[in-house]
Amino acid sequence: MSLDPRRLLGLAFASADLLVELQSGRVRLALGAAQRIMGVNEAELAGKVWSHLLHVDDQPLMEAMLNCADDGVRRGPIVLRLAGEDDRHIRVILRALPENDGRVSCAVTAAQAAGPPLAAGALHPRESFDDIAKGLFEAARVTGLELELAMVEFAGLGAMRGELSPNEAAALDVRVASAVRAESHGGSAATQLSPDRYALLRQRDDRPENMVKRLTRVVATEASAHLVPLEAAGGSARALRALRYALDDFLREGLKDMPPMTLSEAMNRSVKRTLARAGALGVAVSQRRFNLAFQPVVALATGVAHHHEVLVRFEDGGSPFPMIRMAEEFDLIEELDHAIVEQTIKKLANDHERKLKLAVNISGRTIISETFIDHIGRLLAKHGEAKGRLIFEVTETAAIDDLPRANRHIQSLRGLGSLVCLDDFGSGSSSFAYLQQLSLDIVKIDGRYVRELADNGRDGAMVRRLVELCRDLNIRTVAEMVETVEVAEIVRQAGVDFAQGWLYGKPADKPMPAFRPSAAVAPLARRAGASESWG
Ligand code: C2E
Ligand code: CA
Ligand code: CA
Repeated sequence: MSLDPRRLLGLAFASADLLVELQSGRVRLALGAAQRIMGVNEAELAGKVWSHLLHVDDQPLMEAMLNCADDGVRRGPIVLRLAGEDDRHIRVILRALPENDGRVSCAVTAAQAAGPPLAAGALHPRESFDDIAKGLFEAARVTGLELELAMVEFAGLGAMRGELSPNEAAALDVRVASAVRAESHGGSAATQLSPDRYALLRQRDDRPENMVKRLTRVVATEASAHLVPLEAAGGSARALRALRYALDDFLREGLKDMPPMTLSEAMNRSVKRTLARAGALGVAVSQRRFNLAFQPVVALATGVAHHHEVLVRFEDGGSPFPMIRMAEEFDLIEELDHAIVEQTIKKLANDHERKLKLAVNISGRTIISETFIDHIGRLLAKHGEAKGRLIFEVTETAAIDDLPRANRHIQSLRGLGSLVCLDDFGSGSSSFAYLQQLSLDIVKIDGRYVRELADNGRDGAMVRRLVELCRDLNIRTVAEMVETVEVAEIVRQAGVDFAQGWLYGKPADKPMPAFRPSAAVAPLARRAGASESWG
């Protein structure tokens, strides 16, 4: 019995705008809005090699989908670029027809590109993978789509590449990348983690064994997969953070262990380690098991400390950076920031000379919390003597999600008599947007820029521009990580107001006066014999 293919297609994909049936890679039949979507009418499509209608860079991706179109299993949706100048895209879902005669039906709709175009064999770098994941989570929240993160490993792929000629290795990479992308939702939500390992976001309705089978077949080396379900129910932002953390931790530590473990072992270990650390951190925060270190920030005009930055130290005494990142990912940061402000205010209250001024770091995540701002208001009302001596540095370890709200909170803090500083300026991509939308007192130029000044013999033109911009906005500037007299001189001449770094003093367990490296002190101030004062 032979079913009318039109009926079959129509039944299967009633929602598509164009239905195309392929056999041996050629169009057998096209039905629907071919002219509008493909720019070619239905009759003209017939007989054409399907992948030739696509942009060359996307042809291997289509071929990867076709190679593994198993009967009954839906593949896609995948967004593909069409051949031609005008940058048109289509979304394709395909399925092998049950007759098992190699016929495949494709449901096609017009689509928008999901992100910047990828060359054949390319995958998005880690950072754009995060952006794509974010978009997907948003879409998933609206449509109820269920997603999971799949970590895929191809046994011995790295070694295999090493044995091939450069051309063969490049061809293998195109094949692997296309196969991995063909498994991802939309065809671009995939990234490479190591020579053998990849991560992708996929829809949860297809059995993982199916994916593993297809990948093994296309790449011709054994694939294995570890899956992390991502519940959008807990909020897409939270799912995204869990995903980012799992990937980063996996990248950082999952591969360090010797001998090499299987992917599942590595992933499980990484999840366990993460949970154990997050638990320990939660305890450290709630029991206030941390110390404070203080580093002077000097006024470049006088060479004396204007205030001290408060830096947290946990039991190991080392850089708190990994703990801070973890606290941000696991929603412990607000409590930590709050505890540090509390102790800092106590320290200010105990300083009977009232000269000390302290700057605390506040995560970009905490600054958007209403509760946090209320707490600060209450604390400062209780300890009036700390008023005007507490400075806030908003850090960029986590992006600020809601700038208008952050700005309202920053204005509340300024209203309470505090200066507010934007930390890490230039370290993230959003620094200028922050500067535009937040009204601030101080901008701290990221240490990476500052240290570079000496490395490349740069003259500080960039820093000078930034200082000019800040002056126009009535904002003062700080250069951090000033380690040498040479750099101090460059930033001073560029018009920077304050400096901080090893040259003036390392973080110490008490606020100490700043060192006075002679060449870094303005001649005028030295002659005037400016006295050390934190006022
Ligand atoms: P940050 O706010 O930019 O702090 C400056 C970091 O640079 C500190 O590292 C400090 O010890 C280091 N540093 C100071 N001078 C020099 C120098 O001349 N050369 C070099 N190479 N480094 C210098 P630390 O203490 O490890 O803190 C790392 C980051 O962790 C901080 O960066 C901040 O983002 C975060 N952090 C530290 N303490 C806290 C805190 O109490 N709360 C919050 N939310 N974040 C904190
Ligand atoms: Ca800081
Ligand atoms: Ca900084």
